[in-house]
Amino acid sequence: MATSQDTRAAVRAHYEPVIGLEVHVHLLTASKIFCSCSTRFGDPPNANVCPVCLGLPGALPVLNQQAVQFATLAAMALNCRINERSIFARKNYFYPDLPKGYQVSQYDKPLAEFGWIEVPATGGGAKKIGITRVHLEEDAGKSLHEGFPDSYDHTYLDLNRCGVPLIEIVSEPDLRSPEEAYEYLTRLKEIILYTGVSDCNMEEGSLRCDANISVRPAGQREFGTKTEIKNVNSFRFIRQALEYEIERHITVIESGGRIVQETRLFNSNEGKTYGMRSKEEAHDYRYFPEPDLLPLVVDAAWQRQIRALLPELPAARRARMMREYSLTEDDVYTLTRTQGMADQFEEAARAAKNPKRVANLVIGDLLGRLKAQGLEIEQSPISMKGVAMSADLVESGAISGKILKDLYDKAFERKEDFPAIYEKEKPRQITDTAAIEKMIDEVIAANPKQVEQYRAGKTTMKGFFVGQVMKASKGQANPALVNELLDKKLS
Ligand code: ADP
Ligand code: ZN
Ligand code: MG
Repeated sequence: MATSQDTRAAVRAHYEPVIGLEVHVHLLTASKIFCSCSTRFGDPPNANVCPVCLGLPGALPVLNQQAVQFATLAAMALNCRINERSIFARKNYFYPDLPKGYQVSQYDKPLAEFGWIEVPATGGGAKKIGITRVHLEEDAGKSLHEGFPDSYDHTYLDLNRCGVPLIEIVSEPDLRSPEEAYEYLTRLKEIILYTGVSDCNMEEGSLRCDANISVRPAGQREFGTKTEIKNVNSFRFIRQALEYEIERHITVIESGGRIVQETRLFNSNEGKTYGMRSKEEAHDYRYFPEPDLLPLVVDAAWQRQIRALLPELPAARRARMMREYSLTEDDVYTLTRTQGMADQFEEAARAAKNPKRVANLVIGDLLGRLKAQGLEIEQSPISMKGVAMSADLVESGAISGKILKDLYDKAFERKEDFPAIYEKEKPRQITDTAAIEKMIDEVIAANPKQVEQYRAGKTTMKGFFVGQVMKASKGQANPALVNELLDKKLS
């Protein structure tokens, strides 16, 4: 019998969500986009303002070259085409945190267009998401509604953020599920972090996202009417807000209603969105070219200089790491969760004999211990040299996996690096020739086939015998001695 949940799922399957995201990212310049005021976060309110960013009459903007360079670098990392000539425009609206009465942005002719990034596709593989444009603009100030004795009937203004440089990254309506939107944001943020142009800190407002969403009956070409969800402050909440909106759109349409194009706010406590302003009340921004700024020219020579600053980007890095160290895609995703982690891993991988073993150690033995102590890999008590050393010890059979785990526990307990712990705690080695010979004899007797192969010229079997003897000695036989005695016995 069909339950109401089954029917709901069937109705849901009849509609396809369409999502496009607008992401604002602060650029890490020292000074603002049109004046020399500091961009520092957390300074006392209104400490970093001047006639230009306050919009006092007669003050003239001077464009920050570093902001242009950062914006262009980010746009290149997002596979955009850079417009050699772009135009600043005034976006006019009244709001208390916008003293000039307009925001300097870019409109018809943005800095960059026609980009894309890849996100993992639901059925495996990758899907390209188009990036319509990347443009430069200035941020507005902040209204402070809380934290003052008279906050119940006063709002204060902090204009430090006025004029902090931003890029806006607008996606094509190519996303088809909240999950894809989440992936897109994760990949986008990662790429921006790799370029170093922003810290993408959502708590401090360095990365903000508006989500546009509509639904259409499966198979229909035209998009449905969209709503826009503003200023949601985590990727998880964006996913949640989109889920909620999809259900709401479908419910409205199924009951014969029509979606009103409007801006909505997400209440994360309730998990619901609320209408804020409809299209009828929407602003007419009366965009026009900014008369106080020349067209922005990023010529071919400057573009080449900026392109040369592009680092190896996450997707390329993952592909290379899979090749170079024979890792799986899953391994590589885990090991590149942050740029720092990838750097640390590669340091260890390059210092060790078998990078795959290093990957297994980091994923299986290191990350969990770090997480339990709330540490980043950069704060690991076991250095990457120590990880490499421990991997080599396991590789040569000098210690077993079990002993390694034990040594790692001790390193974390005492906050000491692996080499020091190993020196103190290393298993007592068996150096008694007679005892090792006895173990070798037993291994030889138990593996006649392998002995035959070895003697027939398959010298790569040596590793097998070393492994067997080390195992028989519980990892305690001296590896050099094992090798020497094996050579003698096998020849
Ligand atoms: P607006 O004129 O309302 O600003 P835009 O066409 O500039 O709309 O698009 C803004 C964002 O909304 C873009 O990210 C775009 O991909 C997305 N978008 C546009 N139309 C739709 C739609 N019907 N459904 C979902 N997203 C949409
Ligand atoms: Zn200023
Ligand atoms: Mg628009």
